[in-house]
Amino acid sequence: MNQLTGNLDKMNTLCPTNGGLVEYSLSMNGKGVLPLNALIGKKVSWSYQGQINCIHCGASIKKAVGQGSCWPCFNNLACNDLCIMKPETCHYAKGTCRQPKWADTHCMTDQALYLARSSGVKIGITRGGNHLTRWADQGASEALVIGLFPNRLDVGLAEKAISSSGISDRTSWQKMLKHDLTDTAFEPIMEQVKEILSKEQQQYLLDEPKTIKLEYPHIEWPKKVKSLKLDKVPIYTATLMAIKGQYLIFDTNEVFNVRAHSGYNISFSWED
Ligand SMILES: [Zn+2]
Repeated sequence: MNQLTGNLDKMNTLCPTNGGLVEYSLSMNGKGVLPLNALIGKKVSWSYQGQINCIHCGASIKKAVGQGSCWPCFNNLACNDLCIMKPETCHYAKGTCRQPKWADTHCMTDQALYLARSSGVKIGITRGGNHLTRWADQGASEALVIGLFPNRLDVGLAEKAISSSGISDRTSWQKMLKHDLTDTAFEPIMEQVKEILSKEQQQYLLDEPKTIKLEYPHIEWPKKVKSLKLDKVPIYTATLMAIKGQYLIFDTNEVFNVRAHSGYNISFSWED
């Protein structure tokens, strides 16, 4: 078996601009270290000894908060502020942003409003240009950018209005992993979105949104899914059957959310 040791990070994804197969790589200490698509059908293992390091400052921690942060980084960094979960509460304009410089490049820039099908169709937002990465992270099978807004507050308010009117902003991760997709058409939802938004918000909708289809490396999708946690299963070996979203899917119907274990120091092994 080959082996790599390091602090886990969310998997890196590469998607062709016009859609196609998502290429995954295992990321440790902030950089891609191992292409994973080639390991489908092979045995992989991990071993975790109880060490976690904050993905921002590297501090050794007993328990991660958010996704891989220590307490000080969780309380101080703008990327960990509540407004990242609730973009409609962006408080940059009030002058209270934790890190205005960070926000200048992450929040005060073009933001995409999109529809994605990962099981049912959902509404979502992401930084302009980041949509392919976001869709791959969510395991979307097809998606389209329907609007481009000038900043995070504006797109957040639009998304809030849309989700409050009954269009889902959630992904069912179990259905997504089982590749259980609805065939709800995008067009009627786009019409609905237009009706929900104000005249001012409508100006940011695109005239001709383009649907992009993404595929994920797999031999077979699981029939049921059981989530693995490193705290409970520190040593594990199984055959990798598929990768979708931020999940590794094994022949045991067990699945591992890589991103949820950001900062965990593991040894990862694989057969040739
Ligand atoms: Zn930290």
